[in-house]
Amino acid sequence: MDLQLSVPEGYRRNLENFTRIIADVLELDVPCIELRFKKFASSEEKYGRYGHVISKRDGLNWAKFLIEIEQDASLDRQMVAICHELIHVQQYASGRLNYGEYARSMRCLDTGEEHRVPMGLGWEWEGIFYPKGTPYLKRPWEIDAYKRQNDLMNKVYAIYREKYPEEVRE
Ligand SMILES: [Zn+2]
Repeated sequence: MDLQLSVPEGYRRNLENFTRIIADVLELDVPCIELRFKKFASSEEKYGRYGHVISKRDGLNWAKFLIEIEQDASLDRQMVAICHELIHVQQYASGRLNYGEYARSMRCLDTGEEHRVPMGLGWEWEGIFYPKGTPYLKRPWEIDAYKRQNDLMNKVYAIYREKYPEEVRE
């Protein structure tokens, strides 16, 4: 896996090691993850969100997952946010979650012809379509990620402390 980091210099090695452990624990098999720190627009703060992920396809395959993390959040929150976003990468990579423009096929009663009826932009989660406007806290992939993120964080942090004790400052 190609891990690209656009993060402040001082963080670089720690975050790279930390992120690689999460990817190992989640058994992510994706070609590229890019991690970037940036200042979020205020509308994203209302749910206490400190990260998001943008999935990019190359034809039928995943090309890249771009994860953006709020640069002004505390390190603890940033680490939990990286866990949360990598759970989304796992959801995409395993096929449980998908995002794009959807249409359904319907047969015309008179002519018997198949028509593609557009459903618009949205997510597909375990075979069910969720339109773009689905409220954040009603999206099952968010519920799944929130449920698992703290256990993942504790597990990864324990491995990280053991593997890189010199990087851990108590
Ligand atoms: Zn999320």
